[in-house]
Parts: sequence; structure tokens; C-alpha cells
Amino acid sequence: MEELKLIRPGEIRVRMAPSPTGPMHLGFARTALFNYLFAEKYQGTLILRIDDTDIQRSQKKWEKDIIEGLNWLGLEFQEGPGVDGKFGPYRQSERKEIYQKYLQKLLDEKKIYYCFCSPEELEAHRNYLLSIGQPPRYSEKCAELSEREIEENLKNKKSYVLRFRMSSKKVRFKDLLRGEIEYDSQNFGDIVVAKNLAAPLYNLTSVIDDFEMKITHIIRGEEHIPNTPIQILLAEALGIKTPQYLHLPLIFGLDRAKLSKRDRVKSILEYKEEGYLSVALINFLALLGWNPGANKEIFSLLSLIQEFSVEKIQKSGAVFNPQKLDWLNGFYIRQKSLDKLTEDCIPYLIKTNLIKPCLERDKHSLFYEGKVITTKFETTETGEGVSFYELMKIIDLYQARLKKFSEISELIDFFFKKKLDYSSELLRWKEMSNEEIKEVLDKLSKTLNKLEETDWTKKEIGEVLLKLAGELGKEDRGYLLWPLRAALSGKTASAGPFEIAELLGKEKTLERIRMAKEKIKI
Ligand code: GLU
Repeated sequence: MEELKLIRPGEIRVRMAPSPTGPMHLGFARTALFNYLFAEKYQGTLILRIDDTDIQRSQKKWEKDIIEGLNWLGLEFQEGPGVDGKFGPYRQSERKEIYQKYLQKLLDEKKIYYCFCSPEELEAHRNYLLSIGQPPRYSEKCAELSEREIEENLKNKKSYVLRFRMSSKKVRFKDLLRGEIEYDSQNFGDIVVAKNLAAPLYNLTSVIDDFEMKITHIIRGEEHIPNTPIQILLAEALGIKTPQYLHLPLIFGLDRAKLSKRDRVKSILEYKEEGYLSVALINFLALLGWNPGANKEIFSLLSLIQEFSVEKIQKSGAVFNPQKLDWLNGFYIRQKSLDKLTEDCIPYLIKTNLIKPCLERDKHSLFYEGKVITTKFETTETGEGVSFYELMKIIDLYQARLKKFSEISELIDFFFKKKLDYSSELLRWKEMSNEEIKEVLDKLSKTLNKLEETDWTKKEIGEVLLKLAGELGKEDRGYLLWPLRAALSGKTASAGPFEIAELLGKEKTLERIRMAKEKIKI
């Protein structure tokens, strides 16, 4: 890419320009990441600009969500609200005076004009054009109002908007990814650029800010391609230079269908709550439109900076595959040390009411996300003590299969319950009869009962049970081990029965086998 070779380090200025009308969603997170990578790659500056001109829909809580999301992902920006910089303020709602100056200039030069048409008039004209098969555009009824008419209307407090006198021409621009793109502005019509002098709209404010903030490259989603020719014409009218453009591919759902509403509006922070790791999400977002080739899929933020290149951004739509995200998250979970993973899982176990911290009994404390939590817990249902070490041993059984922290409770809840809720059918392995199940459960209790507490390890348990399986004369170990695993966990899938039995301890293991027997009717 010739243009990029000419870039001098430090020269690049890119911006992330979210409208705080909803939470920080996946689409914006992807745009933010690509801007970040571009800035880092070329030692440029990353700016966060809050596009909050739509005062009705913009909310502070969404701005907060966006900034928290960026912080969580580790996408640090050098200029923006709360960070500042030479070109602030960085909220459009705080830049009204700047826009007013430009609007006034455009008015004085008659490049924009007052339009007093009522919504009914506009609607009628629109319907008329549609009825004769023409694309709707403004009639230009107010384009040539006399000074006197304008003054009169303003004096009478007639409501108005400001429209841009669109020139009719071919607008060509170069997209760094897609090459030359051409639009015929004839179809645009005289668009509204401000609701009034104090309320300019996105296209205009964006052009002004990109210029004032010395933005060199605009990297944003493909859905903004149609805005680009309009913004170029506005810049031309203002006599200002435009940045270079790069439009990232659209994000589709599986089957190439439009991304579901749920996924489109889901906050990045919800992923955090569900127990996704920011490293996994970054890795996942990078692969939404950036194709490194060579089948490599695991990338840290640092390796992304090193390997990122515009040439490898794909033009065709990117597919959002939640299973891929789970797979990546599982990968990063497996890289965690067990004590860290346990710390990460504990809040989920507490939230789902399986355990609670018993602070008053505990002398040792542990820091978790800045809060002191105990190393001693108790099961909510039975009040039995559970130490951090015990939790670690339970979680160890599931580290390999855990995809996100929020799944942990469902996987290990049976360790903390007195009575398991499952159907007797679960105890049946293949074609076993009820008598056979009962017999197997009987044998299991007798054999395990003989094992001393001191020998209660998965190794010893395994040995005596495999011996028992041999005595039963069944080739298929499931005949013995399935009913045991089902009796201990109450689940169709779980860790192996020896490991579970070891962690449950002798008494509970025997108790669960007894309860399983009770379920079997003969
Ligand atoms: N505020 C616009 C948006 O959130 C920004 C578009 C742009 O990058 O120009 O879609």
C-alpha cells in the first residue's frame, strides 16, 4: 500500500467516534481496536471523540459504558474526555461555538440556507416523488428565499433547519482498502446539516472535528461509506482538507445473515460479566475482518500490533461466530494458573448462591479486583466450610473444558448441594435393568466402604473400583462407572467419578450412592 509507506512515524492521528446512544457494542469495539492497532503500528495518536450531537438519544451512562469498555479491553487513547489533549474539548456537545462559527461562514457564503418547510410539506413531496418512481430528495423550495422572507420567518419564530446546497457532480475518493469509490451527488438532495445554528448534525460536526483535530485517517465501518461523499462535499464547501478513508467490512451473523439485534446492542461489558477475558475478546475482534493468513489464530494485543497490516484487512463481510469466541476464551482460560482461575471463578460461585464468604471466621484474606475476599467460604445450602484450596481442586477438574467463567456454577454446583435433583433414568447405562443398577450401586457402596479414609484418593478409589469392574466380569466399564458418576454428580456430563469421589470425601460419596439406590424402583 503505497500511501502507507509514505507515513512518517508520529504523523498519524486517528479517532474513535462513538455516539453514546447505546452501550459499547461489538461493532464499535472492532472499529476501536483497528484504530488502536493502526495508531500503534505507525506510532500515531489515538483520539476518543464522543459524537453526542443527538442530545435526545445521547446519555452519559453510555459514554461511561464506552470508556469502561475501552479500558477493559486495554485500548488506551492519548486524547479524549478525561485524558485531554491539545484539540479538546472531545465531546461534541461541548464544541457548539466551534460549529457555530463554521455554520455562520457557510450561511454567509450561501452554501447552506434556511429551510422553513413543515414536516407535512416534506412528507407530501417525498410521497409524490416515490409515486412517480423517483428517489426522495428535498424539493429545494426554500433554496432561493429572499433575505426579507427569511427575516420575516425568523421573526415569527417559524421553525427551520439548515440545508446544504448540494452541488451536482461525481465525487470520487480513495478508500485505502477498496480503492476508488465514486458517487453521483445528484441523488443526495440538499441535506439538513443542522437543526438550527446551535444544533449541527453528525455529517457536519464530523467533518469539522476531523479537520480541527487534525485527523489523518478515518477508520470506520463500511456502513459509513455513503456518508463519505457527503462529508467530502461539506469539507470542500468549508475549504478544508479531508483525511484518508478506510472502511472496515460489515459484521454478519452466522449464515451471513444480518447480525442479530441482541448481538448488535450487547455491551462489551456484558461479555466481561459473562466471564470472557479481554485478551480473548481482543483476539476475536481482530479476526473480525483481519486475516493474518497462515492459519494462525492466537494473537495477543502486542503480537497484533507487530503483525497488523492494512493489506490483510478483508473487504468482504466478517462473520461473527460466538463458538469461535468461546473457543478462544477457553484457550486463554487454559493458560491461566489454577489459583488465578479460581479467583476469577469465585465471584460467579457467590453470585449464583452456591457459596458465600465467611469473613468473620477467616484470618487470611485475599485480594480480588481490589476487594478483600476471604480464603474461607461455606456452602450456602449446608453451611459447610469450603477452603480456597478445596475450590481450586474442584476447579482444576474443569479448567480444560471451561469456556467462560459464568459456566462454572452449572458445572460444579453438585459439589455444594445436599440433595441432587436428577431422574433415576440418569443412572442407567445402556440397557441395564433396574435390578442391575441397584446391584451395581450396592457393590459400589460395599467396596468403597471398605476403603480407609486415609486411602481416599482418586488413585486408590480407581484401583479398587477397576478391580471390582473386573470381578463383575463386564468388559464395558461404563456398567460400573456410569451409575457411580451419575450418582455423584447428578449430571449427564461431568469430570470422572474417581476425581469427584476423592473431592466429595468418603461420607458424601457413600451418602450419594445411598440416595441413588433409593431412586431405583424394583
Ligand atoms: N458517531 C458515528 C457513529 O457512531 C461515527 C462515525 C464516524 O466514524 O464517522 O457511527
